[in-house]
Amino acid sequence: MKILRGLSAVAMASAMMCTLLLAEEAGKGVPQAAPQKPACCQKAEQKGKKCEKRCCVTAAREGKACGKCLAKENEKQGKKK
Ligand SMILES: [Zn+2]
Ligand SMILES: [Zn+2]
Repeated sequence: MKILRGLSAVAMASAMMCTLLLAEEAGKGVPQAAPQKPACCQKAEQKGKKCEKRCCVTAAREGKACGKCLAKENEKQGKKK
């Protein structure tokens, strides 16, 4: 009985390790939530306002995030790396 208990403990431990590893792998697979709106619009929203940039206002009218500002931000992020 002692041996069996020892084995089951090992099995439990390895099973837990497996789930931990699997959870880690799953976490890696989840794509990070990319900001759909440019920082200028996000900042404005945080203050309870709307971005006053003309390009952003135009995009907002069409129910979109401003592509111009997003592209600019993506460029900046690329340069930082
Ligand atoms: Zn904006
Ligand atoms: Zn814009």
